[in-house]
Amino acid sequence: MDCIFCKIIEGSIPSAKVFENDRIVAFRDIQPAAPVHILIIPKKHIPTMNDVTAEDDALMAELFAAARQIARELGIAESGYRLINNVNADGGQVVYHLHIHLLGGAKLHGLNG
Ligand code: C5P
Repeated sequence: MDCIFCKIIEGSIPSAKVFENDRIVAFRDIQPAAPVHILIIPKKHIPTMNDVTAEDDALMAELFAAARQIARELGIAESGYRLINNVNADGGQVVYHLHIHLLGGAKLHGLNG
Protein backbone atom coordinates (compact mmCIF):
# COMPACT_ATOMS: atom_id res chain seq x y z
CA MET A 1 0.00 0.00 0.00
CA ASP A 2 1.35 3.42 -0.95
CA CYS A 3 0.76 5.10 2.39
CA ILE A 4 3.60 7.05 4.01
CA PHE A 5 2.29 6.47 7.53
CA CYS A 6 1.95 2.71 6.92
CA LYS A 7 5.63 2.80 5.91
CA ILE A 8 6.46 4.64 9.16
CA ILE A 9 4.53 1.96 11.08
CA GLU A 10 6.42 -0.88 9.38
CA GLY A 11 9.72 1.01 9.79
CA SER A 12 10.70 1.38 6.13
CA ILE A 13 10.54 5.17 6.61
CA PRO A 14 12.28 6.40 9.77
CA SER A 15 10.49 8.46 12.39
CA ALA A 16 11.16 9.83 15.87
CA LYS A 17 8.73 7.67 17.83
CA VAL A 18 7.57 8.78 21.26
CA PHE A 19 5.00 6.01 21.88
CA GLU A 20 4.13 2.60 20.45
CA ASN A 21 1.95 -0.35 21.35
CA ASP A 22 0.27 -3.09 19.30
CA ARG A 23 -2.37 -0.75 17.91
CA ILE A 24 -0.94 2.79 17.97
CA VAL A 25 2.23 4.69 17.05
CA ALA A 26 3.08 8.31 17.87
CA PHE A 27 6.02 10.19 16.40
CA ARG A 28 7.32 13.73 15.97
CA ASP A 29 5.98 15.65 12.97
CA ILE A 30 8.81 16.35 10.49
CA GLN A 31 7.54 19.91 9.99
CA PRO A 32 6.60 20.94 13.52
CA ALA A 33 4.05 23.73 13.82
CA ALA A 34 4.74 24.13 17.56
CA PRO A 35 7.61 23.28 19.96
CA VAL A 36 5.85 19.97 20.62
CA HIS A 37 4.14 18.48 17.56
CA ILE A 38 3.32 14.79 17.71
CA LEU A 39 1.24 12.70 15.32
CA ILE A 40 -0.76 9.88 16.93
CA ILE A 41 -1.92 7.24 14.48
CA PRO A 42 -3.61 3.85 14.54
CA LYS A 43 -1.64 0.99 12.99
CA LYS A 44 -4.86 0.04 11.21
CA HIS A 45 -5.03 1.91 7.90
CA ILE A 46 -8.10 4.14 8.25
CA PRO A 47 -7.97 6.90 5.60
CA THR A 48 -10.04 9.60 7.31
CA MET A 49 -12.35 10.20 10.27
CA ASN A 50 -15.21 9.56 7.83
CA ASP A 51 -14.06 5.93 7.56
CA VAL A 52 -14.19 5.23 11.31
CA THR A 53 -16.89 2.73 12.24
CA ALA A 54 -18.37 1.49 15.51
CA GLU A 55 -15.88 -1.39 15.47
CA ASP A 56 -13.14 1.25 15.92
CA ASP A 57 -14.68 2.70 19.10
CA ALA A 58 -12.08 1.17 21.43
CA LEU A 59 -9.27 2.17 19.08
CA MET A 60 -10.48 5.79 18.99
CA ALA A 61 -10.65 5.88 22.78
CA GLU A 62 -7.12 4.49 22.91
CA LEU A 63 -5.83 7.19 20.53
CA PHE A 64 -7.10 9.86 22.91
CA ALA A 65 -5.71 7.97 25.91
CA ALA A 66 -2.32 7.92 24.16
CA ALA A 67 -2.62 11.67 23.54
CA ARG A 68 -3.23 12.29 27.25
CA GLN A 69 -0.32 10.07 28.26
CA ILE A 70 2.10 11.62 25.75
CA ALA A 71 1.10 15.15 26.81
CA ARG A 72 1.87 14.20 30.43
CA GLU A 73 5.15 12.52 29.53
CA LEU A 74 6.32 15.48 27.43
CA GLY A 75 5.41 17.90 30.23
CA ILE A 76 2.68 19.88 28.48
CA ALA A 77 -0.43 18.45 30.13
CA GLU A 78 -0.80 21.26 32.67
CA SER A 79 0.34 24.16 30.48
CA GLY A 80 -2.01 22.92 27.78
CA TYR A 81 -2.13 21.57 24.29
CA ARG A 82 -4.33 21.18 21.24
CA LEU A 83 -5.56 18.05 19.47
CA ILE A 84 -6.45 18.38 15.79
CA ASN A 85 -7.80 15.96 13.21
CA ASN A 86 -7.91 17.30 9.66
CA VAL A 87 -10.50 15.69 7.38
CA ASN A 88 -10.36 15.77 3.58
CA ALA A 89 -9.55 18.75 1.37
CA ASP A 90 -11.31 21.56 3.20
CA GLY A 91 -9.96 20.30 6.52
CA GLY A 92 -6.42 20.47 5.16
CA GLN A 93 -5.74 16.73 5.24
CA VAL A 94 -2.56 15.85 3.31
CA VAL A 95 -1.84 12.31 4.51
CA TYR A 96 -4.78 9.94 4.11
CA HIS A 97 -4.06 7.77 7.14
CA LEU A 98 -6.02 8.93 10.18
CA HIS A 99 -3.89 10.95 12.60
CA ILE A 100 -4.34 13.26 15.55
CA HIS A 101 -1.97 16.21 15.83
CA LEU A 102 -0.84 16.93 19.41
CA LEU A 103 0.46 20.50 19.57
CA GLY A 104 1.86 22.34 22.54
CA GLY A 105 4.88 23.77 24.28
CA ALA A 106 3.84 27.37 23.57
CA LYS A 107 0.75 29.53 23.70
CA LEU A 108 -1.15 28.55 20.57
CA HIS A 109 -3.15 31.12 18.64
CA GLY A 110 -5.92 30.81 16.10
CA LEU A 111 -9.32 29.13 16.40
CA ASN A 112 -10.51 30.33 19.82
CA GLY A 113 -7.03 30.88 21.19
O1 C5P B 1 -3.34 16.59 8.85
P1 C5P B 1 -2.41 16.54 7.69
O2 C5P B 1 -2.66 15.38 6.76
O3 C5P B 1 -2.34 17.84 6.94
O4 C5P B 1 -0.98 16.37 8.34
C1 C5P B 1 0.03 15.56 7.83
C2 C5P B 1 1.25 15.80 8.67
O5 C5P B 1 2.18 14.75 8.47
C3 C5P B 1 1.97 17.11 8.36
O6 C5P B 1 2.04 17.92 9.53
C4 C5P B 1 3.37 16.63 7.93
O7 C5P B 1 4.41 17.49 8.35
C5 C5P B 1 3.46 15.27 8.59
N1 C5P B 1 4.39 14.30 8.01
C6 C5P B 1 5.37 13.75 8.80
N2 C5P B 1 6.23 12.82 8.27
C7 C5P B 1 6.14 12.46 6.99
C8 C5P B 1 5.13 13.01 6.17
C9 C5P B 1 4.26 13.94 6.71
O8 C5P B 1 5.48 14.07 9.98
N3 C5P B 1 7.01 11.57 6.50
